[in-house]
Amino acid sequence: MSVAITVYKNYVGGEWFESSSGETMPVVNPSTGETIAEVPRGSAEDVTRVVAAAKKALPDWLGRTPKARMELLLALADVIDQNAEELTLLESQNVGKPMAIARDEMPFSADNLRFFAGAARTLEGKAAAEYVEGYTSIVRREPLGIVAGITPWNYPLMMMVWKLGPALAAGNISIIKPAEQTPLSTLRFAELAQEVLPPGVFNVITGDGIPVGDGLVRDPEIRLVSLTGDIETGKTIARNAADTLKRVHLELGGKAPMVVLDDADPAQVAEAIKIGGYWNSGQDCTASSRILVSERIYDDVLSRLVTTVEAMKVGDPADGEEIDMGPVISQEQRERVLGFLERLPSRATVVTGGESVGDRGFFVKPTIVADVEQDDEIVQREVFGPVVSVQRFASDEAALELANGTRYGLAASVFSRDVGRALAAAKKLEFGTVWVNEHLFPLASEMPHGGFKESGYGKDMSLYSMEEYTRLKHVAVKLG
Ligand code: NAD
Repeated sequence: MSVAITVYKNYVGGEWFESSSGETMPVVNPSTGETIAEVPRGSAEDVTRVVAAAKKALPDWLGRTPKARMELLLALADVIDQNAEELTLLESQNVGKPMAIARDEMPFSADNLRFFAGAARTLEGKAAAEYVEGYTSIVRREPLGIVAGITPWNYPLMMMVWKLGPALAAGNISIIKPAEQTPLSTLRFAELAQEVLPPGVFNVITGDGIPVGDGLVRDPEIRLVSLTGDIETGKTIARNAADTLKRVHLELGGKAPMVVLDDADPAQVAEAIKIGGYWNSGQDCTASSRILVSERIYDDVLSRLVTTVEAMKVGDPADGEEIDMGPVISQEQRERVLGFLERLPSRATVVTGGESVGDRGFFVKPTIVADVEQDDEIVQREVFGPVVSVQRFASDEAALELANGTRYGLAASVFSRDVGRALAAAKKLEFGTVWVNEHLFPLASEMPHGGFKESGYGKDMSLYSMEEYTRLKHVAVKLG
């Protein structure tokens, strides 16, 4: 049976456009390998067009009050709630997410927009007084102007929302460039948002990293680029943004350790790894891809983990709600994941998984690798797939050294029944998020999300993110 292919256009200045070249790019369902949509393959000319539209919309938008922006963001949140099941299905088909996982992202995305609706009314400058005799100084916190958000393929709608909420709340115009593989929920959301937002305030342009993402990074009218993506993409963007000295906000890769101290509950740990390591097929920048276990409970944790992982149901999310894990995003990604396993040193053991599965789509069995050492590639580089490595340690100090011993610093967790011990470890872990007796959740809109070290800089979510999207101005008034 052939699938109906939807053809999308870009949303620019409140209107819908094909790419200037007329070219499109296919969008594939990773569970089947079939093309399900075509989207515009944007060009440098399309970047020029979207920036011009954003510039046109800016003066009116700058004139809107925080209250007006709040009301629009609240209405956008309602749009997600009202269309949650449609967006869930689209996300599931485009990313290969089990329906339950895609559905789980909808209320949080709506909540995030509501949080930023409120945040719009909290902006302040902290001075209005005389610091020099005869002058009153005022600090104004202002929007930057036009900002661009460049998103990855693992949580397309949610990452778009994380970039759109603070941008609009602060009074900026937003241009979003979704990932090549997963533009559908962003484009559909734009259609729905059309009823709510004034034209040109929110724009979506699809295409390849170069020229579209790169064009936004180099455009002098754009004041901030916020990327969620790979470390190498982040470094390239930071270098290219230097020419116009625009602000860069980088949410990059991770290699999150889960530190399991000797008094942890092995059953709780195995359940936490099932979620932390394999949620979204392990394609999560905070996935617990490195399990560090005290040698005293190593065997117990590993055997429970194998049982838990082998019971996971892998398959096409369209086959039913009981699927635990779908495919990885593409054939290329599957080859990348399996490549890590092919390159393992002979000492390492693939305890379970380690191969692709199914006769269509891009499935990889949930995989556990043991007998690894700290310098191994599998420990040092982000796989971004359903693979966790398990290492043992002899003391808490040794565990923290292993945990901190990569270039990444996005997230980590500690498992222990002794909260004092867990807190002592949390203090020493060099990561932007540390969970205790949990991994991956909870996400809270009030809490900042962002990395240390090569996982990037700047924060998504929380009032802290408003600092990325605003600038401070000192106005000094000579008194008469
Ligand atoms: P990617 O870096 O390949 O692509 C991300 C986006 O950047 C895409 O939209 C792409 O088109 C664009 N891009 C690529 N080259 C560009 C360039 N030269 N200039 C401008 N834009 C460019 O990442 P991906 O493969 O889509 O996503 C996976 C990565 O994202 C993983 O490394 C993952 O850890 C990371 N990630 C991080 C977080 C976080 O919050 N820190 C969250 C999700 C994903």
